[in-house]
Amino acid sequence: MKKLIYPVFLALLFPLGLIAQTSPELIAQKDYTAAVAWQQHSGEYRALSFQAYNFARLSLDQHLKEAVAGKVNCVVVDIDETLLDNSPFSAMQVQKGVAWNPKDWSAWTALAAADTVPGALGFLKYAASKQVETFYVSNRTTQDQQATLKNLQRLGFPYADEEHLMLSAGSSDKEARRQKVLEQHNILLLCGDNLSDFSNVFYREGKNTREEVDAAKAEFGTRFIVLPNPMYGDWEKILYKGSKLDETEKSRQRVEGLKGF
Ligand SMILES: [Mg+2]
Repeated sequence: MKKLIYPVFLALLFPLGLIAQTSPELIAQKDYTAAVAWQQHSGEYRALSFQAYNFARLSLDQHLKEAVAGKVNCVVVDIDETLLDNSPFSAMQVQKGVAWNPKDWSAWTALAAADTVPGALGFLKYAASKQVETFYVSNRTTQDQQATLKNLQRLGFPYADEEHLMLSAGSSDKEARRQKVLEQHNILLLCGDNLSDFSNVFYREGKNTREEVDAAKAEFGTRFIVLPNPMYGDWEKILYKGSKLDETEKSRQRVEGLKGF
């Protein structure tokens, strides 16, 4: 009897739209509710972010003692989930059951409404007080340039100007932009939520990312300051087999790839 009652109950609710938010089709689009909730509500997310930037400050002091004279010192930082918290955008995706798309993303960035990742602003202001410049190396596109500057400036980030904002001009590879910064500056450290924000070694073709991380373990917290981002990143790519997969297929492959017992 119990088995019958549940479908009947759902059938009664469905025309009212009361279960639209939790239908299986919507969940299949993006099943990362826990990741977004963790970023928005947990103290642990904030604590880890503060921890990252506390390490950044200690490391900066150390690097300043060793910095090579003759070039201006700087730090290179990513923007999304490193300085700016875009979890409201991800929350919208979960609630509306939509996959990432450039139109929705631009609608969000155009608001210039993202809040700071905890600790980020304090660290970059501290760096500025030590005459250390900030270069913002982000894979936002040039279309988002003005809104991005507006968001950073509204929050009071130092060096938030066109000269220091290096966006993607078609390629997500940040190495060329890092090399450009190195022409005139010492890069004392880098901050990011994605391993590609630090170096291209981590997602090398044919290499194992986890082994590459192990090989670079001394760099984390010293030269590479890593911020938590449970919602998205290059780490997702290594989960999937095939190209042009829809969200339902990605969801299926994520579950299939889990290591159970
Ligand atoms: Mg990022």
